[in-house]
Amino acid sequence: MPSATSDHADAAALDADPPGLHAWADALHQLQAAAELEQLDEDLVAMIAVPRRAVEVAVPIRSDGGGVATFTGWRVQHSSTRGPGKGGLRYHPGASLDETKALAMLMSWKCALVDVPFGGAKGAIRCDPAQLSLAERERLTRRYASELLPVIGPNRDILAPDINTGEREMGWIMDTYSAVHGHPVGTCVTGKPVIVGGSSARRSATGLGVATVLRTAARRQRLGDPLRVAIAGYGNVGRTVAELLAADDDVRIVAVSDVAGARHDPRGLDVATLGRALDGGATVADAPTGEPCARDALLEIDCDVLVPAAVGGQLHAGNADHVRARVIVEGANGPTTREADAILHDRGVVVVPDILANAGGVVASYFEWVQGVQAMPWLGRDVSERLVERLEAAFDDVVAHAERRGCTLRDAALGIGVRRVVDAHVARGLYP
Ligand code: NAD
Repeated sequence: MPSATSDHADAAALDADPPGLHAWADALHQLQAAAELEQLDEDLVAMIAVPRRAVEVAVPIRSDGGGVATFTGWRVQHSSTRGPGKGGLRYHPGASLDETKALAMLMSWKCALVDVPFGGAKGAIRCDPAQLSLAERERLTRRYASELLPVIGPNRDILAPDINTGEREMGWIMDTYSAVHGHPVGTCVTGKPVIVGGSSARRSATGLGVATVLRTAARRQRLGDPLRVAIAGYGNVGRTVAELLAADDDVRIVAVSDVAGARHDPRGLDVATLGRALDGGATVADAPTGEPCARDALLEIDCDVLVPAAVGGQLHAGNADHVRARVIVEGANGPTTREADAILHDRGVVVVPDILANAGGVVASYFEWVQGVQAMPWLGRDVSERLVERLEAAFDDVVAHAERRGCTLRDAALGIGVRRVVDAHVARGLYP
């Protein structure tokens, strides 16, 4: 059993380098910029700059060795004005209240932008999941869920997978919630196993959304035939995008990377061969298609569209000048730093922002929740068709707004999201 994160250790870590502080400062900066663009009422902006509720919980669990280990967890509900809170739960040693607040706020704008009737929320437990046994992980998840029972639920706040959590954790949370309420309640989580009401389309939904907005952006920019696409990060999102696009004759996936390396071929990689190699345990660099290249060189490769689909901050002041793509579609959350964004804008590179490009995940989650509420599963095809429709509509809204305001797609997307939340506040008025 690992050493638990004691409160004492937490305090020392926070003093040394407050984790997540930058993320929260950036989130507030984005809110301020959107408020100025939209000329929003200052008092209302001050109100939505504060999360409606931020809960910190102790998560004590019995360790396999027989002792007790106590972890710290959070759930932040940034807004519930347009509907119940919605957002993932992450397990990470660097998790913090500030980071969770920032991510919850971004969820509010994202849900509003793609017009799903949810507010924004996020949860985290500061822990190193690699150090936990399966049984400890289950006890951790169930105890966290039980500590939050008074504030979560299908009409209050709906949890979903995020970093280091997945279907299994969502199944445990559903079971804990259902056991306490005395009947099955699948709608307290999304991203749960299909056998208990999860959506078979959820796993590919984010990639499908990225591929949809990529196609739309490429058409708008009149990018060439064949369309040459490079993808940085080849996990759930990156691989789905590559496999969907490679099915079309007019697309070449010219380069892909994972954390360990990259491969490229200007004539197009063989995506099926790559997939088989990865399924067999190879890394991207080992796959028998194209030529090897340095991982970060991919970001500067000759292509029409670049999809950063790995970690935050991949595009920064040091490489933004060398990007050769004409369009960037942000599959990852926050892959472009503020400095890089300004450089790319000056160079005329179009950036399709994360809150639009990767919103397919939350749209499919909403559909999963609707199916649960209606107790009527849809066909996978219905989910995909409605998802594509919704993202195309959101893309058109963002482009039209950017033209009206004379701003970037990112500013327009944030402006729309923030304005919708503020308008909902105005429509409901202030209690009491
Ligand atoms: P994943 O863990 O399945 O895949 C991440 C991939 O990135 C892996 O191939 C990994 O090797 C690679 N990678 C890591 N560091 C890299 C680096 N420096 N350079 C190149 N490759 C690197 O994760 P995912 O679910 O595909 O998520 C990717 C991004 O998309 C994350 O930022 C995530 O927050 C965001 N996102 C995911 C979803 C979703 O539904 N999965 C939804 C919204 C946003």
